[in-house]
Amino acid sequence: MLQDRYGRQFPYLRLSITDVCNFRCNYCLPNGYEGDAHAAFLRADEIRRLVTAFAELGMWKIRLTGGEPSVRKDLPELIRTVANVPGIRRVAMTTNGYKLKQQVSSWRAAGLDSLNISVDSLDPRAFAAITGHDKLQEILAGIEQALTLDFSAIKLNAVLLRGINDQQLDRFLDWLRTRPVSMRFIELMQTGDNAQFFDRHHVPGSELVLALHQRGWQELPRTRDGGPAREFVHPDYQGQIGLIAPYSKDFCDSCNRLRVTALGDLRLCLFGDAGTSLRDLLQHDEQRLQLKTRIESQLQLKKISHFLHDGNTGATPHLASCGG
Ligand code: SAM
Ligand code: SF4
Repeated sequence: MLQDRYGRQFPYLRLSITDVCNFRCNYCLPNGYEGDAHAAFLRADEIRRLVTAFAELGMWKIRLTGGEPSVRKDLPELIRTVANVPGIRRVAMTTNGYKLKQQVSSWRAAGLDSLNISVDSLDPRAFAAITGHDKLQEILAGIEQALTLDFSAIKLNAVLLRGINDQQLDRFLDWLRTRPVSMRFIELMQTGDNAQFFDRHHVPGSELVLALHQRGWQELPRTRDGGPAREFVHPDYQGQIGLIAPYSKDFCDSCNRLRVTALGDLRLCLFGDAGTSLRDLLQHDEQRLQLKTRIESQLQLKKISHFLHDGNTGATPHLASCGG
């Protein structure tokens, strides 16, 4: 298993397959995607070589992300490619849900095991104000359909936003009462492009923890390899709550993931400095040993934590650029 200088192990890769996104989330891409929509993002054969090398280094979980992964027309082929790599036990994806209703069955058939869907509000007007798209009802219908497809996990992601969705906890809880879904609340993170927005809208995760305790939710004990989310349960609810609080003390101690951008750069941390390109070693199967050596040696440069507390967001203008 891949291991860094601090004894952290890395079973989990977040692989961005495009920077392009069709939403305009106010905390991420408020003006919509402004990069090169025709950039040469990783092809299926490059992805197969990349994931094969990581799997031989002990990785077994791959999350496809972006940008919005469902803008890739070859998404089912990419899912199948990753799912067929020996050693890969779990293929997950994070999506804004825009194409969920039409496509979720084909993703499942291609081998997708688990799905995170970003739903920042259950109020249609607030949802449209955040994302720039009046699509909430359609996305919720897609989630109901996904719930019939026997995924191993379905999670909803919501970024906590002061003055926008921070008074909507009870609406989320009502929805979770009868659905076996894990709701992940994510503390807004400062990125290179959103400093002013961050100052106005950041909500510390501790506020959510207090509100959950007041409503009788109990925190589960944390496990060492469980990743950075804190989990909460309540006997009256089928759903579960997770909190991802990157500003909390010791958050990076449980880091278990590496990232590769849609152009093939290895990123050791969401908020690290520029990545290292792996793409030149993704062109032939015979390069696998060299590729593994580069990955292992780069991992030794991983730092003990991010430096967000000092306002240092690294080389990340927004999370769409490196698969949040
Ligand atoms: N487009 C897909 C989506 O929105 O689900 C996948 C990519 S998006 C970058 C992955 C996750 O990062 C989403 O749940 C999104 O809400 C979250 N995210 C984006 N920018 C963020 C920020 N500045 N702070 C916290 N979470 C953020
Ligand atoms: Fe697109 Fe996801 Fe960023 Fe929203 S959070 S703009 S859906 S990449």
